[in-house]
Amino acid sequence: MSDAAKSKKKNPTQPPSASNFIRSVIESDLEQSKYTARTWGGHPGPAAVHAGAPQDEARVRTRFPPEPNGYLHIGHAKSICLNFGLARDYGGACHLRFDDTNPEKEEQEYVESILESVRWLGFDWGSHLYYASDYFDVMYEAAEYLVTAGHAYVDSQSAEDMRRNRGTLTEPGQNSPFRDRSPAENLRVLREMRDGKHPDGAHVLRAKIDMAAPNINLRDPVIYRIRRAAHHRTGDKWCIYPMYTYAHPLEDALEQITHSICTLEFEDQRPFYDWLLERLAEGGLLARPLPQQIEFARLNLTYVVLSKRKLIQLVEEGRVEGWDDPRMPTLVGARRRGYTPEGFRLFADRIGVSKADSWIDYGVLEDCMREDLNARAERRIAVLDPVKLVIDNYPEDREEECHAPNHPQKPELGRRAVPFSKELWIEREDVTEHPPKGYFRLYPGNEVRLRYAFVVKCERLEKDAAGNILAVHCSYDPDTKSGTPGADKKKVKGNIHWVSARHAFSSGVRLYDRLFRVPQPGAGQRDFLLDLNPDSKRIATARLEPALREAQPEQRFQFERHGYFVADLKDSRPGTPVFNRTVTLRDSWGKSG
Ligand code: ATP
Ligand code: MG
Repeated sequence: MSDAAKSKKKNPTQPPSASNFIRSVIESDLEQSKYTARTWGGHPGPAAVHAGAPQDEARVRTRFPPEPNGYLHIGHAKSICLNFGLARDYGGACHLRFDDTNPEKEEQEYVESILESVRWLGFDWGSHLYYASDYFDVMYEAAEYLVTAGHAYVDSQSAEDMRRNRGTLTEPGQNSPFRDRSPAENLRVLREMRDGKHPDGAHVLRAKIDMAAPNINLRDPVIYRIRRAAHHRTGDKWCIYPMYTYAHPLEDALEQITHSICTLEFEDQRPFYDWLLERLAEGGLLARPLPQQIEFARLNLTYVVLSKRKLIQLVEEGRVEGWDDPRMPTLVGARRRGYTPEGFRLFADRIGVSKADSWIDYGVLEDCMREDLNARAERRIAVLDPVKLVIDNYPEDREEECHAPNHPQKPELGRRAVPFSKELWIEREDVTEHPPKGYFRLYPGNEVRLRYAFVVKCERLEKDAAGNILAVHCSYDPDTKSGTPGADKKKVKGNIHWVSARHAFSSGVRLYDRLFRVPQPGAGQRDFLLDLNPDSKRIATARLEPALREAQPEQRFQFERHGYFVADLKDSRPGTPVFNRTVTLRDSWGKSG
C-alpha cells in the first residue's frame, strides 16, 4: 500500500475527498456568504413556521432524508457519505430526517434499522434528527396560506378526469372546471377535508400554476390528498396528507437546509421546489435565503438490484434469508457479509459524484473492501476442502508449536502459536496424482513447504476404489522448521497451508458469492429472478486452526490463500463461531467455477 493510502487509513474521518461540482457550488456560496448565520436571522417569519428550526449557526446544512419504508442499501450509503461528508468537510451540519409523509408503508422497524445503519457507517447527526410528520401542522398552515393568496385550489374532478386533463408531453393540459373557485370557497372545502367531512379521493388540493406549462410537474400539481390511514407517528390525527413534492421543499426550508442534494429524477421537480418556496417566502412564511436543490446521478451497481420493490420481493419470496442475508445489498446484509464502514467511505470517495448516469462495476466495491480489510484483518488458517496428510516419519504422540505472524506487514500485531502433529488437514486442490505443467504442490515424489513448519515430501497417495484420494502420505525433514537456523537451505517451489487434525475444529463456512450472475439483472423486460446466481451460497465443511475458536462476532480475518471472512453477527456462539466469506483475495469472478 502507498504511503498516501496508509495515512488515509489512520484518519478515516478526514479523507481528502476529490473536488466535484457540488463542492464547487458550496465553495462559491461560502465565498459569497450566501448562507451566513446573520442572513438566516434577518427574516424571522411567523414563529410557528420556525418550530423545529435548528439553533446552531452552520453555514452548510445538508440532509439525508430516507423514507422509512425499507432498509437502507448501498445506494443510500453513497448519499449518506456524500451529505454527511460535505457537512463534515465544511464545518456544517447534516440532518437525518425521516421523510414520513406517506402513512401507508411506513414502520417503526425501518426507522430503527435506518438509525443503526447511519451510525454504523460512522456518521453522527448530533441533535439533528427530524421527522417530516412533525411539520404536518406547519405544512397545513402553509396550504391555507396558498389558498388564501390564490396560489392553490380544491379540485373535485374525478381521478380519471384529472389524468385526462393533464395533457401529454406534446399537448398542454386543460384547466379544471374547479380552478376558479374563490379563495373563501377553497378554504372552506379544504377545512372540511381536514375535518373528515369528505371521503377519500373526493377532492384534492392543487397548486395553481399553469396547465399549459411544458414541464408537466408545473401543471397544477396535487399538494394534498384525503387518505384515511393511521400514521406511525401521528396516529389518526390527520385524514389528509401532503404529497412528497410539496412536503419535501418545506421540510428543507423549515430546517434551513442550504444544499438539498438529491438524485437526478428530481431535476424536473426543481421548478416546483423553487416556485413553492418563493410563494411562501413572499408571504412571509419562510425566511430567505431559500435552500437550493442540487441533483446528482444515483449509484447503479452491476450484479445488484437496488429497487425497494425488488428487494422486498427477494425477501418475501424467500429467495434470500431475510433483509440481512449477507448476499443482500442492504447495509444490514453488507454488515453481516463483513463489509466495513471504512470500505464504504472509501468507495463513496472513489466513485465521486457526477451529473451523468453510469454503472459502477461491483468489483470496485469489492476492491475497496479488500483494501480496507488487507490493512486491518489478522491472518488465520482454514482448510476449506480438507484431505488428510499423514507424516509417516513423525512420532505418533508428538506435538510441537509453529509460529505464524498475525499480519505480514504489521509485526506489532505479533505472532501466534499453531500446533503441529503427525496428521494434518490440507486443501484437496493442493494434491494431485498427475500434475499439470507448472504445478508445484503435492504429487508423488515432490516436496513442498508446509507454511510456518517443515518441508515434506509426498511418498504415496492412499485412494479408494474409485480413485479418490483419501490421504497423502509424506515424510518430513526435521531440519527445515521455519524460523530455525538453516531452515531454508532446502529450496522448494510450493508453499501450502495446513491445520493439525488433532487440534483443528470443524465448522460450516459460508462461501457467499454474487447474488446475480449477470451485470444488469432484469435488463430489458426480463424477470430479474431468472438472473439469480444459483451458486451464491455454498457451505464448506472446513477445518479451522484452534485460535479461531475465540473469534468474536463481527471479528474479521484473512484466511490465508482464501480471502476475507467474518464471524457471523447472528449465528456465532461463544467457542463456536460461524464464518461468512466477505470477499476473495482477488477478483476471480467468472474466471473459475
Ligand atoms: P423510493 O423509491 O421508495 O423513494 P429511494 O431509494 O429513493 O426509494 P429514499 O428513502 O427516498 O429511497 O431515499 C433516501 C435518499 O437516498 C434519497 O435522497 C435518495 O435520493 C437517495 N438514494 C436512494 N437510492 C440511491 C442510489 N441508488 N444512489 C444514490 N442515492 C440514492
Ligand atoms: Mg425516494
